[in-house]
Amino acid sequence: MMRVAIIGANHAGLATARQLLQSTQDVEITLIDRKEQIGYISGGTPLLLGNKIKTYKEFFYNDVDEIKKKVAHFYGGSEVIGIDFKDKKIVVKENLHKRITLKYDKLVLATGTRQQMLGVENSDLAGIQLLKNLDDALFLNQKLDSLSIKNIAVIGGGYLGVEIAEALSLRNKNVRLFEIKQEIMNSYYDKDFSEIAQQHLAEHGIELHLDEEVIRFEGSGGKVTTVVTTQGYYQADIVVLATGFVPNADLGRFHLDSYTNGAYLVDKEQRTSDPDVYAVGDCATVYSCATEDQKSYFSVANALRGGYIAAQSILGKKIPTTGSVMTSAVKIFDLNLFSTGITGRSAQLYNIEAEYVEREKVTFLSALGKKYKARIRIIYRKKDHRIIGGQMCAHSDLSEMILRLALAIQNKMTIDELKCSQAFFYPYFTCLIDPLIDTAKAVDLKDDEC
Ligand SMILES: Cc1cc2nc3c(=O)[nH]c(=O)nc-3n(C[C@H](O)[C@H](O)[C@H](O)COP(=O)(O)OP(=O)(O)OC[C@H]3O[C@@H](n4cnc5c(N)ncnc54)[C@H](O)[C@@H]3O)c2cc1C
Repeated sequence: MMRVAIIGANHAGLATARQLLQSTQDVEITLIDRKEQIGYISGGTPLLLGNKIKTYKEFFYNDVDEIKKKVAHFYGGSEVIGIDFKDKKIVVKENLHKRITLKYDKLVLATGTRQQMLGVENSDLAGIQLLKNLDDALFLNQKLDSLSIKNIAVIGGGYLGVEIAEALSLRNKNVRLFEIKQEIMNSYYDKDFSEIAQQHLAEHGIELHLDEEVIRFEGSGGKVTTVVTTQGYYQADIVVLATGFVPNADLGRFHLDSYTNGAYLVDKEQRTSDPDVYAVGDCATVYSCATEDQKSYFSVANALRGGYIAAQSILGKKIPTTGSVMTSAVKIFDLNLFSTGITGRSAQLYNIEAEYVEREKVTFLSALGKKYKARIRIIYRKKDHRIIGGQMCAHSDLSEMILRLALAIQNKMTIDELKCSQAFFYPYFTCLIDPLIDTAKAVDLKDDEC
């Protein structure tokens, strides 16, 4: 019998357990999480705060109880405080007080991330809110009901900060969004796409403070009252930190190889530098198909994919894996933005010579004769035309289209191959002219102009 211990029971840990449980092999699974209540899907937090869902209870995996029952041992509310990699033992603080030691044959680290703190003066004042866990979300949600909470500062203009700013504005709060860089969501979008989002937020009353650094907080009676930046003083009844996340990778720090931000370096089978130790989800690196090297980025899809791959590898099954393509979307009121792969500005940072084709404000005839407008950009390498990224923006749902582009990147497709790739027409479901293929064809116009 093979003993597999999984530390962390959220997306990645649960995905690993789920897959191992399907095996007929003799596997004894031990699942440990410091939280008692596992399986919360934090993508629900902005929806909860924006009053778009009735209850957070809709945002739990529905097979959590089944997994807890089926694994050999489940330790909830229990923290792993140490690992002896040589003797293959983990030390657990069961129910956060009793210490126990467990043996493993294979270990899976699925410890995710923790929130990055600002580290400025008075960061411990009451009213300065984190966003990582369900408890954070519920605490903030309850406060928002109070009419005395009027001014809220959101620190960090990544996709999470933007989503939270939108949610708070829907709760009729005065929202200021602070971003140290010149544009919001700059890891996901090029300058002009970020600017579209910025304009949309401003049109909906969100006050943007770009290129502005928070240097301290001020308070009264232990509660935050003011955000102080390089450019001014701003009243705040609550400050929401959306300042990013760092991998929770302390347990293996002195034994396992790691990436610059501390994430465990893994191979394409999710194996770390110790052959009996796997790392999955946000605490591990991913092989980026766009840049063809290891990267660290955080997403549910990666966590699920990593869990599946690690489980297959533990079971001795070889599956072909190509790596991953960072893909995301954000809904800002009635505007939707989508991104995959790398941006033009990231390409420059990675010394990749890139070009792009774009259809701006194209009107497509879609299902049942409806029309919709979209802006679609495809980024490709100049030397061989391989697609490395894309961004889209519309009032409609383009998620299937961005996923097609992600698949094209994953399969090393060129922009020229995309021009002739498969589409289909059926008036109920698709456009007459496929918008993605039509955008790729714009490369011909570009060439003709040269
Ligand atoms: C508000 C919010 C909204 C988000 N929205 C989206 C979205 O829409 N789409 C998307 O793709 N991503 C989203 N994300 C990111 C996404 O939640 C993460 O990428 C995802 O949770 C990663 O899953 P994971 O299992 O790797 O790690 P985590 O979800 O962080 O889980 C790690 C688990 O490990 C446990 N753990 C850690 N250390 C120990 C220890 N020493 N002992 C025992 N247990 C331990 C923790 O308690 C936790 O349960 C969002 C994140 C937040 C905070």
